[in-house]
Amino acid sequence: MKTCIYPGTFDPITNGHIDVVKRGLQVFDKVVLAVADNYEKKSSFSTEERVSMAKEALKNFKGKVEVVSFNGLLVNFMKKNNYSIILRGLRAMSDFESELQLALANKKLSPNIDTFFVMTDVKYFYLSSSLVKEFASLNADINDFVPKNIEKALKKHFCR
Ligand code: ADP
Repeated sequence: MKTCIYPGTFDPITNGHIDVVKRGLQVFDKVVLAVADNYEKKSSFSTEERVSMAKEALKNFKGKVEVVSFNGLLVNFMKKNNYSIILRGLRAMSDFESELQLALANKKLSPNIDTFFVMTDVKYFYLSSSLVKEFASLNADINDFVPKNIEKALKKHFCR
């Protein structure tokens, strides 16, 4: 069984992330979506909230997608759980630079680990969790950007 790990902040998960999962499943039998429990990066939702929102949003992929959280170094978490492939999505050129840096750094830390990139769908080219949160805070329609449960959670978060 070919498994990959899709790490990220997922604050919250968007349709762009879900599209990356779908594309990953065209190549891998299973995608483990790993929510980073990162104290350094200030997130709007707690790790538990981000995990449960992602689980609900991905419930249709039963058996093919697992949602977990991790803290500390990704490569250590991967070694401990026997994962060797990281899945990441690429949007603009700016993503490329930081993703290249991350992929090379991870490879330096653990030479057996490789990163597999999928290109964004043009529909999600501009989509990010930050944009969705900004839109939600301004009461804009975010129906096309996130699943229903995330839309509800964001509305509640911004008290609208
Ligand atoms: P991080 O903080 O680690 O970048 P994110 O949750 O922002 O975590 O993103 C996780 C991964 O998903 C990254 O590889 C990012 O480029 C990718 N991603 C996010 N949004 C999209 C999108 N709209 N289309 C394609 N890939 C995306």
